[in-house]
Amino acid sequence: MKIAVGGFQHETNTFAPMKADWTAFEQADSWPGLQVGAPLLASCLGMNIPLGGFLEEAGRFNHSFEPLAWCSATPSGYVTRDAYERVTRLILDRVSQSVGSLDAVYLDLHGAMVAEHLEDGEGALLTSVRNIVGEGVLIVASLDLHANVTQEMVDASDFLTAYRTYPHVDMAETGRRTARILQQIATGKKRPHKAFYKPDFLIPLTGSCSLVEPAASIYAEIEKLDPERGQNDGILGASFATGFSPADIHECGPAILAYGADAALVQKTLERLKDKVVASEPQLSAPLLTPEEALRRAQQNHAGDGPVIMADTQDNPGAGGNGDTIGILKALIAAHARDAVLGVLFDPTCAAAAHSAGEGAQVALNLGAHTGGAPQETPVTATFKVLRLSDGEFDATGPYYDGIRLSLGLTALLEIDGVKVIVGSKKVQCADQAMFSHLGLDPREQKIVVVKSSVHFRADFAPIASEVLVVSSPGPNPADHRNLDYQNLRKGVRLMPGARETS
Ligand SMILES: [Zn+2]
Repeated sequence: MKIAVGGFQHETNTFAPMKADWTAFEQADSWPGLQVGAPLLASCLGMNIPLGGFLEEAGRFNHSFEPLAWCSATPSGYVTRDAYERVTRLILDRVSQSVGSLDAVYLDLHGAMVAEHLEDGEGALLTSVRNIVGEGVLIVASLDLHANVTQEMVDASDFLTAYRTYPHVDMAETGRRTARILQQIATGKKRPHKAFYKPDFLIPLTGSCSLVEPAASIYAEIEKLDPERGQNDGILGASFATGFSPADIHECGPAILAYGADAALVQKTLERLKDKVVASEPQLSAPLLTPEEALRRAQQNHAGDGPVIMADTQDNPGAGGNGDTIGILKALIAAHARDAVLGVLFDPTCAAAAHSAGEGAQVALNLGAHTGGAPQETPVTATFKVLRLSDGEFDATGPYYDGIRLSLGLTALLEIDGVKVIVGSKKVQCADQAMFSHLGLDPREQKIVVVKSSVHFRADFAPIASEVLVVSSPGPNPADHRNLDYQNLRKGVRLMPGARETS
């Protein structure tokens, strides 16, 4: 086959203040920057990225590739109309140029992209691809577990499959699976039947962690449906996307998908998964503590078996946070916490000031709370000791950022009254121990480790934690969606699992 390959990844929190513009897609962050044409074929190989996994697996079947364009930007507010149109133009022009020679198109998508002018970024892109290639070419895509899957996305494509792990340690594997299923569809020469259902409640990020119940059992069930398990002739695969809730769009929320050659079996499979998800609704949200409650609990923790890890979920840069709210930092300082560290606070000005001052110096700073993620907050105005400096360039050591060279920009490890804080110059989700260890700080030797992350940190930090607490400090990614002012959501959708409040 000749397969056109590309991707366009963004998770849009429509309530977050900063938009994703062209530059945000063009520049590299933890993932590569914009790749156009041939370079994209090598750019993601060996990384935990769907496109890399797809190319590796499809390459084994000796297919040839038509490289389109691929890019991603850190989750944030809306994608600007300019960025959306320029990126989709790069992809669609290349599809048009090669249309006569193509057998299939693979796109590496998130599934929760909202542009300034468009609620369903991926649905519109897939429809445009379909309009160019027509019905004779197969269209498949991989999606994030947090995709807000829409009817248009399902209609315009032949097969969609979402990650099954959160932390997303299976991104490359999802790309590989997409390649295997594409192979199977092409060999069978019959388009799969589809079934699609959207439950009528929203799931918070912390409730969709695949390491804990009930999500763990739901994903175990989905795994069993894979063709290679050989248990379900006629089923090509199923997905449970938990949705990305801070998106004020009509089709926000979770989705269940099933595909296969046998229409009745596909529908039956969907119904079975639907029953399981609906029965699990009340458990699909995790308990939240205030910073003060979490600190009290950490101070009472005498297990001594590794640090208490606190997740600052509402300022998660992986979900539209800017990484510079200071609610938990202030609580640590007020509680005179010892052996406590927070990572990574985004404040390029303070990181630069620490670098000017030098290691060992005392430096007066207005730290954090500059970008309005928590409008009621003011910076921490105090003198900090500069413990350690780095250029913020180092290799990840944990499974989530596997194979990736991390880039925090100018970085400083500061201390105030026994509380340490890592200050970086780029917005990066704290999900790898190397963010601490590259500064000579072993997180295992701390009593409290605060991470600006919702769930991805668990891949690398859960094994060293005596306890994991999810903390609700003010930030732009509310863990309780009842605090968000939805205008466009479908009527009757419950704003939290099991909640009485509906849209
Ligand atoms: Zn995700």
